[in-house]
Amino acid sequence: MRKIDNLVIHCTATVQTAKVESIQRYWRDTLKWRSSGYHVIIEANGNIVRLAEDSAVCNGVAGHNSNSLHVSYIGGIDAKGKGLDNRTPQQKVALWQVIKAWKQKYPNAKVLGHRDFPSVKKECPSFDAGKWWESLQN
Ligand SMILES: [Zn+2]
Repeated sequence: MRKIDNLVIHCTATVQTAKVESIQRYWRDTLKWRSSGYHVIIEANGNIVRLAEDSAVCNGVAGHNSNSLHVSYIGGIDAKGKGLDNRTPQQKVALWQVIKAWKQKYPNAKVLGHRDFPSVKKECPSFDAGKWWESLQN
């Protein structure tokens, strides 16, 4: 089993109605990625879609993927494309479930957002992931 140090939260930076298949098509055809961007995607209705096994290395954060797991909610931008935490209540619950399950498997891994890595210029996931997770811990 590979060593997991980071549980990374993302947003897709798309409309909330974006389809998982179209996001995957973008990775494959436009970005020419051979692997998935995330391990798990969460749809607006809270549906959890598994895209890759934990053992697979995904393309979530350039240079930090070998020891990371990635989960993304669909959404995260406003109509002008600016970062906005528009997670639905269902997505918040699902996100908590995914991170909680990973934390049980990888108790020493840190919960953080894409933007928390050094020299990342994105707003992804459009909220403070570490603070959000901490707020659920009591
Ligand atoms: Zn991201």
